[in-house]
Amino acid sequence: MSLIEMIQQETKDFLEDPDLTQEELEKGNQNMSICNMFQGEFFITITCDDCGEQINFRNEFQCLDIALIKQKNISSNQLLEIYFTPSLMIGENAWICSKCDEQNASFHSFKISKIPEILVIYFKRLEYDPIKKVNFKNSLAIIPNEFLDLSSFLQDPLENPTYSLFGIIFHQKKEDFAHFFSFCKREMDRTWWEFNDGYQPILQNPFKFSEDIQFLFYHRNY
Ligand SMILES: [Zn+2]
Repeated sequence: MSLIEMIQQETKDFLEDPDLTQEELEKGNQNMSICNMFQGEFFITITCDDCGEQINFRNEFQCLDIALIKQKNISSNQLLEIYFTPSLMIGENAWICSKCDEQNASFHSFKISKIPEILVIYFKRLEYDPIKKVNFKNSLAIIPNEFLDLSSFLQDPLENPTYSLFGIIFHQKKEDFAHFFSFCKREMDRTWWEFNDGYQPILQNPFKFSEDIQFLFYHRNY
């Protein structure tokens, strides 16, 4: 698969394509591999709310899938804090406790045990309306934070786990028409550029609230 073909794939499919990541691993070029750039790891803890029995396991991730909430004037960092807040799962979402042998309410918490070089945040804007039985776009406006600190979400402390925003992908949807465009930060002079069927420098503040933000791309600071 050529690089152009890879870039033309839908971003999230591309990041989560197991064949692609395996292919990169088999090449053995760890420094440049897609796995190495984008892949992180969660350390997940599930606790039975009834008896306290606990299990731990690890899961790889290529991007953080952030659910949206109904709250105005919210930033990407605030949504990330909510994402990492431990949650009580009940009903069919709960864990079947091996000690109780029952699906009791369970407490789920997760931390990051390996951080990626490039952190991708994906906002889950596609939602399902069970009454109308159709998918719809959640148009919550988000302000993207330029600086991100993962310290409070880590399993073990790490020196300077901070990131800087360098790319934003927007998804606009009007009736049957969908359009993607992006903002990218130029490394040489740290100016922001818009890529939207052409490219031009961005003169206005690129960090205003937007209901079309779909992905944020951060690189680790050194
Ligand atoms: Zn239990």
